[in-house]
Amino acid sequence: MKEHIDTIPVTDAFSKDDECPFCYLERQAEQRAIRYIAGPEASYMEPDVRAVTDAQGFCRHHYKALYDYGNALGNALMMQTYYVGLQKEFQAQLGSFELPDKKGLFAKKHPSLPITQWAKEKESTCFLCSRLEYNMRRYYATFFHLLKEPEFRQSVENSKGFCMHHFRQLMEMAEEYLPNNQISWFYPTVLALMENSLARVQTDIDWFIEKFDYRNADAPWKNSMDAVPRGMQKLKGSYPADRPFKQD
Ligand SMILES: [Zn+2]
Ligand SMILES: [Zn+2]
Repeated sequence: MKEHIDTIPVTDAFSKDDECPFCYLERQAEQRAIRYIAGPEASYMEPDVRAVTDAQGFCRHHYKALYDYGNALGNALMMQTYYVGLQKEFQAQLGSFELPDKKGLFAKKHPSLPITQWAKEKESTCFLCSRLEYNMRRYYATFFHLLKEPEFRQSVENSKGFCMHHFRQLMEMAEEYLPNNQISWFYPTVLALMENSLARVQTDIDWFIEKFDYRNADAPWKNSMDAVPRGMQKLKGSYPADRPFKQD
């Protein structure tokens, strides 16, 4: 198989025997993005990067990830300028705030004051989520591009399928990127992979529970030792058993 530099992470992920190669790619991309913003290169000190973190901030999940990563001063500096902008916007909201007319506003099914909408917008953006989304789109595009290679199709067929989260994304992306001549391969293959892998993980969970029966105490674990984190990954993606990603 001819390997272009951009296709390597994707072919690599499909060789890892992971419950979901897209989870594997997502974790790599996420750690790379965290290292980019808060790692040794200190990209948060570059004015154009800071302008974006000031505008987008981070979601709850990624503040926790940044906290765990451990660059406390970097986090403080990013928050310092973010707080300045936040308070400026908040003051503007206060300046135009009007007491709601109870009858008119709360009678509606979805009342939304401008300040409520603003708070909602502040919560809807994240620098790291945006970067991840961009990277994942590229991985999906590469995946569909690679399907023309028989060797890659084979490694998809040999894979353990996908988590439900990335299965949903894959199905959505297929509408955009799947070449017409792969339709009759793609859907039967992916659906069979999902059907089989859900049944397989279910079997592992069943045996994990059976192992708690004293009569099975000496029986082998088979593939059930890590059935709980793998079962969770299969349902929602990501790796529940991962230790926090920290700077070296
Ligand atoms: Zn996944
Ligand atoms: Zn985020």
